[in-house]
Amino acid sequence: MPKQTVAALDPAGKSVLVRVDFNVPQDDSGAITDDRRIRMALPTIRSIVDRGGKAILMSHLGRPAGKGFEAEFSLAPVAARLGELLGKPVTLASDTGGADSAAKAKVLPAGGVLVLENVRFNKGEKKGDDAAYVAGLAALADAYVNDAFGTCHRTEASMHAVPVAMKQQGKPAVSGFLVEKEIRYLADAIGAPKRPFVAILGGKKVSDKIAVIENLLSICDHVLIGGAMAYTFSLARGGKTGKSLVEADKVALATELLAQGKGKLVLPVDTHCADDFSGTANKKIVPAGEIPDGFEGLDIGPETARRYAEIIRSAGTVVWNGPMGVFEMPPFDAGTKAVADAVADATNAGAVTIIGGGDSAAAVEQLGYADRVSHVSTGGGASLEMLEGKAFETVAVLDDA
Ligand code: AMP
Repeated sequence: MPKQTVAALDPAGKSVLVRVDFNVPQDDSGAITDDRRIRMALPTIRSIVDRGGKAILMSHLGRPAGKGFEAEFSLAPVAARLGELLGKPVTLASDTGGADSAAKAKVLPAGGVLVLENVRFNKGEKKGDDAAYVAGLAALADAYVNDAFGTCHRTEASMHAVPVAMKQQGKPAVSGFLVEKEIRYLADAIGAPKRPFVAILGGKKVSDKIAVIENLLSICDHVLIGGAMAYTFSLARGGKTGKSLVEADKVALATELLAQGKGKLVLPVDTHCADDFSGTANKKIVPAGEIPDGFEGLDIGPETARRYAEIIRSAGTVVWNGPMGVFEMPPFDAGTKAVADAVADATNAGAVTIIGGGDSAAAVEQLGYADRVSHVSTGGGASLEMLEGKAFETVAVLDDA
């Protein structure tokens, strides 16, 4: 069911409480190392303030203990960066829906921006049902916007109980532009894919992606497997995996998935392996299932890359979650690069191409392909859950279009 978006609000002179995902990576000094999540929320924030609304923003950052303020997890650096990006002052409240938030919200001018402190400083945030905490937030504004795609799979208070409470007060609750775009891409890809529909799944563990593999096997035409998870499938076929990362306790499950995916599940035919987890170790390309003792698989081999690229280039829809190898460590980025190149070509040829968040998003960013695909999701866990076919309560609660 399509949801009402922030475009439908008339924010002039009104306060709008926006749940964003400002959970940005930081270095040891607290400096933000990638501000993509802040930049992705700008269209929604600008849409409110440019039309004379007051934007009150709330987010989590990291994993504080939930026992009050911890400097390490403060949103102060985020508020400062947001001010730079917007080119206007941004105020920071020292609490989340408490006395300071209420006082600062009250004097916020039209077009002003207020950032509340980390929602996870409150133990009621994760629990989701602390009435006083929820009421404090709900009272701050005239409307609610969810633009936190990266958190849509979690029914934490600011994501669910707060919009529920605001709706009970007759206030609108709508999606932001980022959430709207993410849901549209992922839901359309799964619900009405242009075929052939090709899924590319990689990364470390089969166990993290069982539900995704099962769901995608039921709707895709081809599911290409790479990354370390391929070695558990190789074990299931009686292959030799040397000292590769495998999940021995998931071999039975891999055997089941192989049977279920007959004709659709595509496994590597060769492997780039090394005798140490290092770019300068002794390296070999071997047929899949023939990794020698003392060697570990660190990337798909060139013949696999060639075959995968061919399947991807003729796709109508591509979804990709998880790198093909240790892309952070050349030359083991070659398989991921070849796949990224093919995904870019497919995009050029008219395919809809979607990169799941987390490590695959980091890989396409790092390898320079982010602008050459249809959509790079900002949510790792959230995009994975959408690919598993799950619906989000946090989105269901928003007003229908
Ligand atoms: P995930 O979070 O499950 O998507 O896994 C991403 C991580 O898997 C990346 O950091 C990759 O370096 C790592 N990875 C991919 N292939 C391999 C491999 N063959 N051996 C070890 N790690 C791998």
